Parts: sequence; C-alpha cells; structure tokens
Amino acid sequence: MDCIFCSISKKEASADIVFEDEEIIAFKDIAPQAPVHILILPKKHIAKISDLSEENQMLTGKIINRARILAKEQGTSDSGYRLVFNSGDDGGQIVDHIHLHLIGGKKLGSIG
Ligand code: AMP
Repeated sequence: MDCIFCSISKKEASADIVFEDEEIIAFKDIAPQAPVHILILPKKHIAKISDLSEENQMLTGKIINRARILAKEQGTSDSGYRLVFNSGDDGGQIVDHIHLHLIGGKKLGSIG
C-alpha cells in the first residue's frame, strides 16, 4: 500500500513534524491554507472517518486533545481556529489516511 502519511509516520518521507508519540503524529501541511495549518493523525493506517469503530474513540479523542495543545503552542488558542476532518470523496478528502486539520492564525469565513 502506498500511503504518503504512512511513509511520513515511518520516517520514509520527510515532513515538518511538530509532535509525535507511539500512536499519533502531527506535521505542518505542505500547502498551508493559513499561517497555522497542521495535520494530526494516527500512525496506524485508517483510510477515513467512516472506517473508525467504537474501539477508536480513545484515539480520536487523543487527536483532538493534541490539536487543542498544538493550537495553544502555536498561539491561536485565544484568537480561534478550525478543526476539520474531511471524509471520503464528497467530503473533499484527498489523502486516504485519516487526519485532522488544525487551521488558524487568520480570520476564517463561516461554513454552512
Ligand atoms: P484532505 O483534503 O483532507 O485529504 O487534505 C490532505 C492534506 O494533506 C492537504 O491539505 C495537503 O496539502 C496535505 N498534504 C499532502 N501531502 C502532504 C505531505 N507530503 N506533507 C504534508 N502535507 C501534505
């Protein structure tokens, strides 16, 4: 299986890593949409949110908690930020390895 985010997790491809532990990794998006644009994901390959199971609740909680900590480190805690999981084709997902976008550092338009 050829997955760029698996390759980054295994250090076979380079990325600007801002956090990692045994389970998750966070790195800067290669094409940032805002001054702060970080992707947070499990090292284990899971293609999309729809593929998660009840057993993954701790993992997704851990990813969101890390986004909160990284937002604080990046200085966007008070000004605000957006957390986005794109899932599947209609959701605009391009890389088929689940990842949470942390986007901030500028005023974002509302969605919906
Ligand atoms: P999505 O549309 O949710 O699948 O978003 C995929 C994101 O991954 C995009 O914002 C890309 O810019 C980003 N991306 C793709 N390849 C890399 C890479 N090698 N390193 C960092 N970010 C990447």
